[in-house]
Amino acid sequence: MNLEDKLYLLGYNINEEESHLGVKNPDECKICEKRQCTYVCPAKVYEYDTKGEFLSINYDACVECGTCRIACDNISWKYPKGGFGVSYKFG
Ligand code: SF4
Repeated sequence: MNLEDKLYLLGYNINEEESHLGVKNPDECKICEKRQCTYVCPAKVYEYDTKGEFLSINYDACVECGTCRIACDNISWKYPKGGFGVSYKFG
């Protein structure tokens, strides 16, 4: 089973009103040379639009692994509010 298949098996309860992810300073994303958030995230949450020069954050796909917060100091990260976010099913 590959990563995409495993991600497909996860359950999510999306908080439509509030993202638990963001950036502290959007202007820093414009001059960031590596944009590591766009390739370290296993769920491909971050995409940089080079034409519009903005970072889109598909927070509803986040598996709360914390990789992006380590990779980039400009990421604003917190756990989703209680009851929201990913749920792992085992078995
Ligand atoms: Fe992606 Fe993990 Fe960061 Fe969520 S916590 S956005 S899954 S790297």
